[in-house]
Amino acid sequence: MTARPPLAMLAELTHRCPLSCPYCSNPLDLLRKEAELSTGDWADAFRQAADLGVLHVHLSGGEPASRRDLEELVVAARQAGLYTNLITSGIGLTERRLKALDEAGLDHVQLSLQGTDAAMADRIGGYRGGFERKMQVAEWIGATGFPLTLNAVVHRQNLHQLPEALDMAVRIGARRIEVAIVQFHGWAMRNRAALMPTRAQAEEAKRIVEEARKRLLGTLVIDFVPADYHEEYPKSCMGGWGSTGLNIAPDGTVLPCHAAQTIPHLSFDTVHDRPLREIWYDSAAFNAYRGDDWMPELCRTCDRKHIDHGGCRCQALALAGDAGATDPVCAKSPLHAGLRAKAEAFAAGPDDNLTYRTLPPA
Ligand code: SF4
Ligand code: SF4
Repeated sequence: MTARPPLAMLAELTHRCPLSCPYCSNPLDLLRKEAELSTGDWADAFRQAADLGVLHVHLSGGEPASRRDLEELVVAARQAGLYTNLITSGIGLTERRLKALDEAGLDHVQLSLQGTDAAMADRIGGYRGGFERKMQVAEWIGATGFPLTLNAVVHRQNLHQLPEALDMAVRIGARRIEVAIVQFHGWAMRNRAALMPTRAQAEEAKRIVEEARKRLLGTLVIDFVPADYHEEYPKSCMGGWGSTGLNIAPDGTVLPCHAAQTIPHLSFDTVHDRPLREIWYDSAAFNAYRGDDWMPELCRTCDRKHIDHGGCRCQALALAGDAGATDPVCAKSPLHAGLRAKAEAFAAGPDDNLTYRTLPPA
């Protein structure tokens, strides 16, 4: 099949982060600073991405502010003609640095929220004083004039704070909030028993979001990612594999999604190996799950195949043992009932057994 050009790129500038959220989607084998692309490598990647058709770049991590050259990277992305969105916990940003980022041309900030009070946020983020700091950074973001999106990852332990998170978004002047019920990849997968929402919580979250969308129409845009394991149909992961976006990991590995490296039979090129254009159009990894030739019969003959593309390949591997299987979240999958039962069992797990994300020792 002929692939269309990508629209968005997630640039994972670093895996370093002062926080250690147990739901972090970064891989268990985190990369150290020494493995990271240089400023020049990233600038070249931004130019190649723009040339390929990418319109906006999400500067992410880890915590992108851990890169001392973040301002230079924003300049490089803007010079390449990309719209720049900084995805940050806020830790590592000062008022001065935000001004410098503004001067560098940064377009938008997305601030993560681990909880709506210090007790919850600092416990989940594993960083004492983080909440207070984040609230200060939110004020500076507003004063600098950046458009702001709040990014609230919610799970069994903080879902009761969802109404307050929505109020908070309005109070601090965010234009948008992304409410994402935790997706189980990376460290979140390891913490399923502590984070899995109950079915009742998953339903209540939907109701709260629906009500808030009506009440806050014109004030706040609410994006919502529902609780996968409690759904009837899977999400359209990345809008289809190798279809609308790509990720570059801190060491320059080019991926169709952030969890793709969990699929062991695929090998991924880095920006050092081949031009980005070639990787996007010609590499075996990007072509592995494009279109519908790869699909099992169940999906290939299904009228939803252009809606959810058979679900998430990484999740199919993790839950069905086969990256080419129907995502077991789908009610038509023979594994769906078992997944439901598993979700219920995880949701009854203890709250206090969090495994925090950590870098490997030097
Ligand atoms: S999820 Fe938490 S630990 Fe992971 S990068 Fe974001 S703030 Fe850091
Ligand atoms: S059978 Fe496949 S394409 Fe159809 S709804 Fe389920 S996952 Fe989606």
